[in-house]
Amino acid sequence: MKEKKKSDLSVLLGYAGSYKKLTFLGLTLSAIAMILGMLPYICIWLVARDLIAVAPDWTRAADIGKYGWLAFAFSLAGIVVYFAALMCTHLAAFRTASNIRKQGVEHLMKTPLGFFDSNASGLLRNRLDGAASETETLLAHNLADIVGSAAMFIGMVVLMFVFDWRMGAACLFAAVISVAAMFTMMGGKNAKLMQEYQVAQDYMSKAGTEYVRGIPVVKVFQQTVYSFKAFKEAIEDYSKKAELYAADVCQLPQAVNLTATEGAFIFMVPVALFIAPSALASGSFATFVTNFAFYAVFSAIVSTALARIMFAASGMMLASTALGRIAQVMDAPTLEITDDPKEPKDNSIEFKNVSFTYDGADVPAIDHVSFRVEPGQTVALVGPSGGGKTTAASLIPRFWDATDGSVLVGGVDVRDMDPHVLMDRIAFVFQNNRLFKASIFENVRAARPGATREEVKKALSAAQCDDILAKLPNGMDTIIGSEGTYLSGGEQQRVALARAILKDAPIVVLDEATAFADPENEVLIQKAFGALTKGKTVIMIAHRLSTVVGADKIIVLDNGHAIEEGTHKALKAQNGLYSRMWTDYNKAVKWRISTGEAM
Ligand code: ADP
Ligand code: MG
Repeated sequence: MKEKKKSDLSVLLGYAGSYKKLTFLGLTLSAIAMILGMLPYICIWLVARDLIAVAPDWTRAADIGKYGWLAFAFSLAGIVVYFAALMCTHLAAFRTASNIRKQGVEHLMKTPLGFFDSNASGLLRNRLDGAASETETLLAHNLADIVGSAAMFIGMVVLMFVFDWRMGAACLFAAVISVAAMFTMMGGKNAKLMQEYQVAQDYMSKAGTEYVRGIPVVKVFQQTVYSFKAFKEAIEDYSKKAELYAADVCQLPQAVNLTATEGAFIFMVPVALFIAPSALASGSFATFVTNFAFYAVFSAIVSTALARIMFAASGMMLASTALGRIAQVMDAPTLEITDDPKEPKDNSIEFKNVSFTYDGADVPAIDHVSFRVEPGQTVALVGPSGGGKTTAASLIPRFWDATDGSVLVGGVDVRDMDPHVLMDRIAFVFQNNRLFKASIFENVRAARPGATREEVKKALSAAQCDDILAKLPNGMDTIIGSEGTYLSGGEQQRVALARAILKDAPIVVLDEATAFADPENEVLIQKAFGALTKGKTVIMIAHRLSTVVGADKIIVLDNGHAIEEGTHKALKAQNGLYSRMWTDYNKAVKWRISTGEAM
């Protein structure tokens, strides 16, 4: 367990980078502050000694004022140094957390885009951001407290034996008992219980979040909290674990711990009674009384030091789980980037015996698929849902990398290209194109940050967005998702198309959305498609077969296999899957028209 803690810490300090030194400086200052904080107790000892020496002629104790001021100065210095220590550790902690966030985001930038399909971006952000903040407490407070407490403990042991080792030992005995009590609470089989308790707490808070998310459903269906079985069970489990932990594990040790730390001087009384007669006999009674006064006061700080170590230990545990979550992000697979990038020769696309299996899937989503798209050609991928069309298209911009075979752009395997060169060549519009919560202008310009307002406006016009702009309060500068400005699915698709048009890349990969509710949008989107694909090499996934009739080539994907390939005319004549799909499609269209007329 110790081993693991150490490696956690070195992982964390690894993220600190150049701020490691600042952390160490902060820790050193914290140790100094703790020692400074102990010095006033020595002043008290000196005051007591002088007073007892001159008793009852108090006026002769001229130095005690000096000691008083000295005690004050040490306390003040202790506070100032501790403050400086916390400044250092906080600065280092915030920088380290920001390093973690930066490195995490940089790492995510190198992961294949497809990774974000299976890992919701909100969850990733939460994991990274939340975990980074959780490490802050450890670096900013807990470590300084651990080092400070350790320094204090050493100082304590030294002081205990400087004045009177017997009373010192009594004091230390109290400390040992309380440490032993703490270890019974946290160590051995109780560690497991404590972990279970923490897991239950964590689970309850997650279930609580789920419940809050589900409130609309609860309201709509007139349910109560009891209908959220998971939440209710989590609460019950937590209360059971909390009771168990409090009653079985903590009750006795915590009572012993508190008694020993808060009442340390109780151990000193018998020892003092035992020493007193001999001190009286040897004439050193004054020193004896002084020492007793010192240890009685001093034992009070023992509890402070120990309580700090307790808190620090739980901080360690928190940081450890946080680091685990950070590691999950940092361990996400990254795209391999070639050292020797090759330039594509033209704008052709070729699939050579390509297979791809999703992580954890048993069967390939794409199975030995081969086809070629000449520069300037339009090729359509069609087929039943789940056939592998989206997957095939995602392999071109390297959302995923083929498991087998190769995807070539301009005669070069996409993995042998500089990713920037590849991305510059391809504009893609996928079904789930997300728009940022930014102005429409910013959303479109993201495709080409150098574009002027005029160019963005032209792209929006070409994508048939004029009607959208006209109805928005600030036109192109309206922020999507604010002030009740929400775009319908079809409208979002058109803005996404404007983005792709602005990019003006020679290769276009289009995954047509399955359903736009209103036919009006459909007509506009078809026009926008036309503007986007003119003169380009196009791979389009079409759900309405009317859009693929004019394609140079149609590839039918079924269950990951390319089962048919040819022009619309050739495939229709073949009497295979395509011709059946075509018949069905026409029936559907006729049905729509006839019901439309009936209305
Ligand atoms: P299409 O676009 O032709 O409807 P897809 O390419 O989306 O088909 O899906 C092909 C197969 O891969 C399906 O069986 C689907 O369930 C699976 N699949 C798609 N996306 C993922 C994913 N992110 N993770 C795992 N399996 C996936
Ligand atoms: Mg699809």
